[in-house]
Amino acid sequence: MTQLIVENVSKGFPNGEQSLTVLQEASLQLAAGDSLAIVGPSGSGKTTLLQIIGALDRPDSGTVQLDGEDPFSLSENDLAAWRNQRIGFVFQDHHLLPQLTVMENVLVPTLAGHSSGDASQARATELLNAVGLDQRCDHLPGQLSGGERERVAIARALLMKPKLILADEPTGNLDRRTATAVTEVLQQLQREQQAILICVTHSDSLADAMDQKLELLDGKLHAAT
Ligand code: ADP
Repeated sequence: MTQLIVENVSKGFPNGEQSLTVLQEASLQLAAGDSLAIVGPSGSGKTTLLQIIGALDRPDSGTVQLDGEDPFSLSENDLAAWRNQRIGFVFQDHHLLPQLTVMENVLVPTLAGHSSGDASQARATELLNAVGLDQRCDHLPGQLSGGERERVAIARALLMKPKLILADEPTGNLDRRTATAVTEVLQQLQREQQAILICVTHSDSLADAMDQKLELLDGKLHAAT
């Protein structure tokens, strides 16, 4: 069973002559099918922690292991491929490419690898159906609402059947009703695929929808209610 183990992760950033400590020995452990909300004040290090878990940034000390593999032991090239195969990212501002259609955006993760065209196309169609956008495959992102764009980003994040989905404020720019619908889609797909889902959020309703909640305070993770 997939396991994510984050152990004693610390991280600081240069801050003038000194260093700003953002994470201090943060640890967590999750298994396939688990969902976790990370909450905490602005600037508490939530995005930094998510980036380290997603191997987009390196910790100063501590380890991250997904299924016993330490991504930071890989070369930069291998790391990019490793990330593409195992991790789906969903960002607040969706990061869709404006000149590509909805379908092309969902297929972007296949550009880096050797996935079969037909199988990927079928999977993209299935996911666009699941997020309710099967009628919008040929639209450009600019022709969609904010909630629809976020759904495209979710479909794209799930294309490679990631073991781990990392979402940074996925409902941050959405009104309440749209946010609820997007949360439901994200969670339904995560459960179907038994992926691990970690959401960084300020939204109580998104945080409450997750199985577990941790608060980042003073660089450490605390149980949150
Ligand atoms: P949150 O997501 O909880 O709002 P962040 O992880 O974005 O917090 O940021 C935590 C702290 O680290 C902030 O004070 C931020 O300014 C600082 N920080 C984040 N990334 C960098 C960076 N690349 N260089 C310098 N400081 C950074």
